[in-house]
Amino acid sequence: AHMEDCLFCKIIRGEIPSRKIYEDEDTYAFYDIHPQAKVHALVVSKRHTTDLAHHSELSDRELAACLRACAKVAELLNVAESGYRVVSNRGENACQTVGHLHFHVIGGEKLAERMA
Ligand code: AMP
Ligand code: ZN
Repeated sequence: AHMEDCLFCKIIRGEIPSRKIYEDEDTYAFYDIHPQAKVHALVVSKRHTTDLAHHSELSDRELAACLRACAKVAELLNVAESGYRVVSNRGENACQTVGHLHFHVIGGEKLAERMA
């Protein structure tokens, strides 16, 4: 999907509603509609790129901003202390469903010891 019809680009532009948690120049964070744990947020890069395989399309600043935003979101949702997991799915084996770089921030309860 390109920027015009990309789901997360539409969310960033406000064309599709979302429950915003945090925003800065490079990132936007909101609640996942199908939470997999008590706390489940998504952090997306404002610049459209498909996933981490396309990292060279983003600047170091934009990539760093994504990770910092994940940590910020964890603080805002009060899981920084108790712990959380950050996941970015890329491609078929990872079951990526939305082709816009995003990071899951998951916590609020004890997570599975193994991720897969
Ligand atoms: P992934 O499977 O890693 O590509 O993650 C995509 C995530 O986006 C899933 O966890 C979905 O539940 C979530 N998602 C899909 N549509 C929306 C939406 N409109 N608002 C919030 N989260 C969404
Ligand atoms: Zn997009």
